[in-house]
Amino acid sequence: MKLPLTETPLYIDGTWRAASGQPIDVYDPRNENVLVSMPSATAAEVHEALAAARRAQRAWSRRPAAERGKFLRAAADLIHRHRDHLAHLISLEVGKPLEQALGEADFAEAFLRYNAEWDLRLEGEILPGDTPGETIHLLRVPLGVVGAICPWNFPLAVLCRKLGPSLVTGNTVVAKPSEISPLSTLAFFQLLDEELDLPPGVINLVTGAGPTGQALVDDPLTSLVSFTGHRDTGKSVMARAAAHLTRVSLELGGKAPAIVWKDADLDLTVQAILAARHTNCGQVCTSAERVLVHRDVLKPFTERYVAAARGLRVGDPFEGADLGPMVSAKQYEKTTAAVALARQEGATVLTGGGRPEGGQYQAGYWFTPTVLGDVTPAMSVMIEETFGPVTPILGIESIEEAVSIANASRYGLSAYLFSRDYGTVMRTVNDLDFGEIYVNRTLGESIHAHHTGYKESGIGGEDGKWGLLRYTQLKTAYHHYGTD
Ligand code: NDP
Repeated sequence: MKLPLTETPLYIDGTWRAASGQPIDVYDPRNENVLVSMPSATAAEVHEALAAARRAQRAWSRRPAAERGKFLRAAADLIHRHRDHLAHLISLEVGKPLEQALGEADFAEAFLRYNAEWDLRLEGEILPGDTPGETIHLLRVPLGVVGAICPWNFPLAVLCRKLGPSLVTGNTVVAKPSEISPLSTLAFFQLLDEELDLPPGVINLVTGAGPTGQALVDDPLTSLVSFTGHRDTGKSVMARAAAHLTRVSLELGGKAPAIVWKDADLDLTVQAILAARHTNCGQVCTSAERVLVHRDVLKPFTERYVAAARGLRVGDPFEGADLGPMVSAKQYEKTTAAVALARQEGATVLTGGGRPEGGQYQAGYWFTPTVLGDVTPAMSVMIEETFGPVTPILGIESIEEAVSIANASRYGLSAYLFSRDYGTVMRTVNDLDFGEIYVNRTLGESIHAHHTGYKESGIGGEDGKWGLLRYTQLKTAYHHYGTD
């Protein structure tokens, strides 16, 4: 597989440059081998990228919106043509099965195409003035420069989720991929640079870890920090952004409950929750993190779920496995510690529990699908985001109990509900304090809907019309033209 060139990883003002900060190793999660060592941008280099984006922004926003849409369509075409290459890089750096990485490339392409369609649809308003000979225009204008800080779990899709609305509305961008999975982003930028005739400074790339992200947040040239990542990092981003009252849009973690009512279609439910817990080895913000099952169906649900989890194949992401390795030593250790603590607190491991047996799994961050019984709502595994293939199952007596446990969380991103009864579904959807609810289906948000977390799961929200509008602001112009 051809890796992107990493000696000059910074893309600033249309030019590739070396970075003068600390090099950071990028690992192959299958075997812990170092794939490349990637230098980080310093705060001064981040500032140069922001300054280039600022210089380019006015001319970019003055272009007809249709031209900006045309660029996004061309960028989407590039992903389409290089789908296999980009997906292979995603699988390599994240460890996700190739089929899922191909799906991520398609998702990334769709974000660009959908947002391109807004080029001729952005609208302002005209209001009558309140004095004679006056009219009022409400114009929808860009914010300026967007700092796009991306997580490791969906490197290309989350990048395009931010690039699409930023660019079509006339903002310019400085993007920072996660230090753990920067390769697909770098490859995409190299394609954009080689194949599209984009004005310098409209898109810029800086590499590095937390300090690089912090430099983006701290710099007053940044107009909006569009951040996707961990809850605690999000809090730090918001606190630091307050220094300049820089806007933030935060997409953070979750602890999604999956409520299984007694009349649920168990075949559908088992498959839906299985996918919602094991996609990308459980490392998805909308993953089903805790399952609340009516006691009447607890036994059959658990038996079927455990059997299905045992049937999932852990193996090489390029060879048709259901689960690849976890992304990093940190995620592997976090998940191992979560299972150990659950055991200490009295949970029973019904299947799995840690590293699979066999020589091929001794190096790398492999984790078997793990199901926990005998859990209580007070256990840490039912409260903290696990972000790994671990499913705790709890019996519940009533829908009120389920909703109360579900809502007693600092998170509020997504929730799942399985029932055939219309009344139960409608009432429960109303009562759940979550921004995104999946009824009788598995995970996977739509590009034209709205992806948002309540409470400590975030502020703002992405996708669709409402996500796009967050990359804009209103300008009011009072036009006094007189009466004669
Ligand atoms: P992190 O918060 O660790 O990192 C996110 C990004 O922020 C990375 O690029 C990271 O750089 C950077 N960063 C780290 N520290 C700082 C800082 N102090 N200031 C600014 N930027 C910083 O999250 P993960 O990458 O580990 O992603 C997993 C988390 O993201 C999970 O909690 C998950 O739920 C959440 N998530 C939420 C989604 C949503 O849409 N709501 C979607 C996907 C994930 P580096 O990694 O290089 O250190």
